[in-house]
Amino acid sequence: PKISPKPVIRQLDETAINRIAAGEVVERPASAVKELIENAIDAGARRIDVAIADGGKTLIRVTDDGCGIAPDELPLALSRHATSKIDGSDLLNINTFGFRGEALPSLGAVGRLTITSRMHKFDAAQITVAGGKMDPIRPAALTSGTVVELRNLFYATPARLKFMRSDRAETQAISDVVKRLAMAEPFISVTLRDVTSGGEGRVTFRADAETGDLFDALYGRLARVLGAEFAENSLRIDTEREAIHLTGYAALPTYSRGAAVAQFFFVNGRPVRDKQLHGALRAAYSDFLSRDRHPAVCLFIDCDPQHVDVNVHPAKAEVRFREPGVVRGLIVSGLRHALADAGHRASTTVAD
Ligand code: ADP
Ligand code: MG
Repeated sequence: PKISPKPVIRQLDETAINRIAAGEVVERPASAVKELIENAIDAGARRIDVAIADGGKTLIRVTDDGCGIAPDELPLALSRHATSKIDGSDLLNINTFGFRGEALPSLGAVGRLTITSRMHKFDAAQITVAGGKMDPIRPAALTSGTVVELRNLFYATPARLKFMRSDRAETQAISDVVKRLAMAEPFISVTLRDVTSGGEGRVTFRADAETGDLFDALYGRLARVLGAEFAENSLRIDTEREAIHLTGYAALPTYSRGAAVAQFFFVNGRPVRDKQLHGALRAAYSDFLSRDRHPAVCLFIDCDPQHVDVNVHPAKAEVRFREPGVVRGLIVSGLRHALADAGHRASTTVAD
């Protein structure tokens, strides 16, 4: 057998730690966009503008009108496990998108990150971190809110750069992320602009803040994101079981698709992908749709944060419910009722 030299155990430095963690948090430009938009939402923004160039590979800039960051806290925002959102004593009560304090240090480890921010009653300031190295804070000009600019993502990690797909594919993934978060926040204005040099700086998505009650606002927003046809052909869902709420819109069986491309779930406002939720959806529509057809839905599950664990994965796209059976039952029966009612209404209208 090969005799290995005596292994030496070393503590990794902060840059190496951040770079390793970045592998989980930032898989591709779209994941960076997701983290930055979520930060803007957590900051109470009413308006979020996203600009990208070259599929987000050379530039991602997210501008918001949220609460901003105080100048002396800028270095802290870039430090690992530093967050203003939880105090660490209650991991079961999480009401914000963020809480791990990992996104900004991770992004600063795999690209050139500049944050310009102004908090009410403070002067605007700016800080840059590139390849994990932080520059001193500088004064800046900004009336309010925060601008986070990420340039040359993964330039310091060429292995990851190789896995990037075409600009077109990365732009598409970013657009999906922006739209998904826009669905969850109909009262926030959202724009996505492609500023690739040589391009026209074109706005690829714009949704102004909706008005009215939550259902009206959501209806308007879904019409904008998924198309007027979806909105016109879907049923309003509003039901509850054991303090777990299910709301949103679910398409009529007649407005189904050949692929499961328009099935959106949000848990406490967080976009999630979850096999069990999709399974429940399939079961709910099983009497109304053939197996090769897929319903379009946008559904929100809201419950006490204690009933769901969002801390399953750094990117937080997966969740665990404390009572998955109740959630499944709620989806299956809630949708079945709505679909049966609609079917009944349709048949009585025809009979009249
Ligand atoms: P987390 O969101 O998990 O707290 P991040 O690394 O994403 O961790 O952000 C670190 C901290 O920086 C946040 O807790 C917040 O205080 C601050 N921050 C980040 N982005 C913004 C923003 N757009 N507006 C105001 N504060 C922000
Ligand atoms: Mg965050």
